[in-house]
Amino acid sequence: MSDRPLPPAVILDRDGVINDNDEPVNGPEQLRLYPWAAAAIRRLNEAGYRVMVATNQGGVGLGYMSAQDLDAVHERLSALLKEEGAVIEAYAACTHPPQAGCDCRKPRPGLIHKLWEVIPFDKSRSFMVGDRESDVEAALAAGLRAIRIGPPSEGTRAERSVANLREAVDYIMQTSRDDFSPHTMGAKTPRETFRGGGNDDARPCPVHMG
Ligand SMILES: [Mg+2]
Ligand SMILES: [Zn+2]
Repeated sequence: MSDRPLPPAVILDRDGVINDNDEPVNGPEQLRLYPWAAAAIRRLNEAGYRVMVATNQGGVGLGYMSAQDLDAVHERLSALLKEEGAVIEAYAACTHPPQAGCDCRKPRPGLIHKLWEVIPFDKSRSFMVGDRESDVEAALAAGLRAIRIGPPSEGTRAERSVANLREAVDYIMQTSRDDFSPHTMGAKTPRETFRGGGNDDARPCPVHMG
């Protein structure tokens, strides 16, 4: 029986991490990548990390955009990254309204579990990078290491605060090199199943491959 270890992953929040969200992104034409985003993601790709996105998109459930609009945003994002040799392998989005009480909206870890079911990774060596404490909470609940984009003065449970995704990747590369602990991750089964929340608007949110 193969005992090959699972690869590590970096799960990225989208808005405020990969793209500017000073204005809401409700369609592909509104997507503005940060100028450092593609190079940072490519560096993770090249280092052997599985790179995926976990994003709250309650605007779909609230009717500001359609599920098709959201898919188009992610197709555009993947196309822009591809031009610079960078790849996001899968997108998991919570499209439920914020008050739906679903299992997938961060700070709950459902989106991360869902990604893990599609592309298994070694949680103990994996990271989530986000700009809100809800990203950090989701990461820690799923057993991932958490990096927060934002000023350290804000207070966070993340192990590191950084200015942007480029600095987050610098930190990941550095701390991974320093990590000599044997990973103990086995073939763990996610505890949760992914149903819709207790709300008529709460449809299951499928993972889309990048
Ligand atoms: Mg964000
Ligand atoms: Zn949800």
